[in-house]
Amino acid sequence: MSGRLDNIFSPQSIAVIGASRSKQKVSWQVLDNLLKFGFNGRIYPINPKATSVHSIKAYPSVLDVPDEVDMAIIVVPAAHVLSVVEECGRKGVKGLVVITAGFSEIGGVGIEREQELHSLVTKYGMTMIGPNCMGVINTHDDVQMDSTFSPIPPLKGDIAFMTQSGALGVAILEHARNVAVGLSKFASLGNAVDVSGNELIEYMEEDPETAVILLYIESFGDPRNFVRIARRVTRRKPIIALKSGRTEAGARAAVSHTGAMAGPDVGTQALFEQCGVLRVGSIQELFDLAMAFSQQPLPQGRRVAVITNGGGPGIMATDALVSHGMQMAELSPKTIAYLEKNLPQEASTSNPIDLIADADGPRYRLVMEAVLKDEGVDALLVITVPPVVTDDVEIARAIWEVARDYDKPTLSSFVSRAEDSPAFMELAGHGIPSYLFPENAARSLAAMATYREYLAREEGEFRVFDVDRGKAEEIVSKVRADSRTRLHETESLELLQAYGFNIVETRMAHSLEKALELAEEIGYPVALKAIHPKIVHKTEYGAVALDIRTSDELRRHFGTMSDRLSSKGLAPKEFMVQEFARGGKETIMGMTLDPKFGPMIVFGLGGVYVEFLKDVVFGLTPMTDMDAVRMIESIRSYPILEGVRGEPPSDVASLAEYLQRLSQMVEEFQDIGEVDINPFLVFEKDKGCKVVDARVILAPAGG
Ligand code: ADP
Ligand code: MG
Repeated sequence: MSGRLDNIFSPQSIAVIGASRSKQKVSWQVLDNLLKFGFNGRIYPINPKATSVHSIKAYPSVLDVPDEVDMAIIVVPAAHVLSVVEECGRKGVKGLVVITAGFSEIGGVGIEREQELHSLVTKYGMTMIGPNCMGVINTHDDVQMDSTFSPIPPLKGDIAFMTQSGALGVAILEHARNVAVGLSKFASLGNAVDVSGNELIEYMEEDPETAVILLYIESFGDPRNFVRIARRVTRRKPIIALKSGRTEAGARAAVSHTGAMAGPDVGTQALFEQCGVLRVGSIQELFDLAMAFSQQPLPQGRRVAVITNGGGPGIMATDALVSHGMQMAELSPKTIAYLEKNLPQEASTSNPIDLIADADGPRYRLVMEAVLKDEGVDALLVITVPPVVTDDVEIARAIWEVARDYDKPTLSSFVSRAEDSPAFMELAGHGIPSYLFPENAARSLAAMATYREYLAREEGEFRVFDVDRGKAEEIVSKVRADSRTRLHETESLELLQAYGFNIVETRMAHSLEKALELAEEIGYPVALKAIHPKIVHKTEYGAVALDIRTSDELRRHFGTMSDRLSSKGLAPKEFMVQEFARGGKETIMGMTLDPKFGPMIVFGLGGVYVEFLKDVVFGLTPMTDMDAVRMIESIRSYPILEGVRGEPPSDVASLAEYLQRLSQMVEEFQDIGEVDINPFLVFEKDKGCKVVDARVILAPAGG
């Protein structure tokens, strides 16, 4: 399929359809950019009213061009797009970049026009970017194509950039240029009628000129396909994404507390985490990371040494590093002895290493050498603050000259040095990312360490469990046949059982006598719960009694519970008698449907306080064993599962297995709308887990 996008990125000849003679027009700017950037192919302006545009011979229509035309950039008014595209098809044009707006984004006639455009493109087997986009760039020496209308020409580099926002595209190109970030490819997607973001990512994956992929995303076309592709691509090249714009609709939940905890953004978060995409919060951060990833090797660990000529910024950098999960490297005695011997008395020889204000190039050089040689150091952050008594370009030179000899990432911060300062240029020109503030450098280093850890982790596999699908089908059909969406308590438990879940011993009683009999069978202590179709959260109605030790106690609870509920018009029809489970930790496991992302699995430390603690994590299905483990490990209270205060560790492996079983269940039964297992008890290592309470709701029929 990569041939398809070569039609866009590597044409031999381009027609600019709608090329205007007026410098104020976008089309003129596009032509001008193609010329200025030195496109290595033929250019044909198309303009029915002019014989030449921008000093080049023009043709009335693409059909009049005497040679082959590989690609057409379309900048005519919306009403004319279809007819010129038809002409392109007849001419044998293979690639289209439609800059013109006025399609689905305006609704009404725009939607129809877009559909017709799509059928034309399909009919002629063309490849199209847009409509409503700002063009594409390929800086490869053989091509040298800037087909955008951005006034700022790009620098050549190894970063591919894909943006869903054309408006931001210009700003992004400008910023890239300012921070001296070079691009391999750039594409503004527009309405993505033909070429999708996912297809572009796959193209960048194979592109030998591209080492880092940057995305600016406003919404996901096909999130599940994105995950599938990105899982593969991030193993080869880092993907750094900024997701903003419209907030996705977010998960809805009818009854479960878990669903209610899903904010509008958890889907995006889960999606990125699951496929190793590095998420940033701003354009600035996007480029901070891009610089680091494209110019420096990944760190082997999180231990960072900081070299500075001022105490304050050293402390600032330390704080920032630690808050991003990095560690301050402990220098070896040998390194410290060497520094003590060679640095002035007032200097600080422990990390952060303070060279004091009069530090010059040679002093930086000497310390950098010693620190980069130290095996306890994985990465280096070099800081310089004004006023620098000596020449800061000399320091900049020392930094890149030393750094290039070591396979450890070196980032720098020439505090408050503008991006056009000579020192910044010296660093940027020699592959050292330089940041205005140490904080930005710290964050970038942390992202590199995170990515490196991601690569080191096993990919994981999708397991398929042997389950009783027939039984599950039976339960679901029965609920549908009753025109219900909510499963009875016992049905919920049975459904989970069909997928291999263990349930605490549970029996149903319709009378006190039966309850007493069952309690004897199960053995005291037991739990007693009143069941009523209107009661969802039993505790809130006083419909749960725990740790019942004798038949007398059971009798008493049965009586008070019945009276209390009857007085509220909720006379219980059934009672649940359960083994009273002890010794486990309460977790919560569930699923909530997101309109955009589909089923999202939820996991957290559970119990009745779960919605206050909000310590839950979300994951998309399907889920690998590694995804499940990562989810469990990523909750804040994970140490509790590992065992604190001498407690034995919990059976995390079993939890991970059940997350995957749940994932399989909701994948196989797409009409399950909500699952809430709370509590899901996890016992000591190797002792497994048990469901105590579960609610399952089907999605509305036909929905
Ligand atoms: P609901 O969530 O509808 O209020 P639950 O059945 O989850 O009702 O019971 C509420 C709480 O009581 C649980 O979170 C758990 O802490 C405790 N509990 C309920 N049943 C048992 C049981 N069989 N063994 C141990 N603890 C239980
Ligand atoms: Mg519960």
